[in-house]
Amino acid sequence: MQFPKINLHIHSNYSDGKQTIKRIIEKAIELELDYIAITDHFTNSWKAWVSTLKNSDIISTYLDEISSCQEYLSANNKQLTLLKGIEVDLSSSMQFIQKYIQADKFDLILFEYLQSPESIAFIENLIYYWKLTNLDKFAIFGLAHFDPSYFIMGNLDTLMLFLIKHNIYFEFNSSYPSFYSPKYERFFEKLREYEIPVAIGCDSHDLRTLDNIDEPFEMIKYYNLERNFEILINLLDIKNHKKN
Ligand SMILES: [Zn+2]
Repeated sequence: MQFPKINLHIHSNYSDGKQTIKRIIEKAIELELDYIAITDHFTNSWKAWVSTLKNSDIISTYLDEISSCQEYLSANNKQLTLLKGIEVDLSSSMQFIQKYIQADKFDLILFEYLQSPESIAFIENLIYYWKLTNLDKFAIFGLAHFDPSYFIMGNLDTLMLFLIKHNIYFEFNSSYPSFYSPKYERFFEKLREYEIPVAIGCDSHDLRTLDNIDEPFEMIKYYNLERNFEILINLLDIKNHKKN
């Protein structure tokens, strides 16, 4: 299988990224990327002081803008597939997330700062809430720049069962290379064993890092996770066909 070029973690000027969505897309086409996701920040905690997707008006403008870019890409037969994403800070309040995020409006929801079993329970509660409200259409879920050190000494199987149950992927994030270092080999063995999907995201805040995907891809091969990467690509394709 020829693996596609993907970057599923990009910030635009809707949060702390420097570029407009349109400019990101132009550059992604030039770089011949196959899949990208715009994943701006959503939080009412640590980053509440920077611009974020903090209310319904901003979120709907953001989603409309990405929708019109998706229409442009498909009308012009571009190879690039664009996903509507959002990066949810898990130190936000449950009420705030439930109030503003409708999981059926997004193609991809990233969770950042999963660092404890309590956060697993938090995500599960959220997913159950979303499933009650939207049964037909659903976003793909992923863990943004997950740090294995919080789980490596215990709870690793709990984590894996949680990921497999909800089909949540692990992201090889080129901005946080220490999180895929060989000292966490056991963690990556578990990902392989449980067939947890893996993705690549660069956490791009400007155009220079838009295709920083070579090292993450090398690490996917290093840990023999090609099959896991294929599972992720299948999820993206299913998502995309559903949409069209
Ligand atoms: Zn990010």
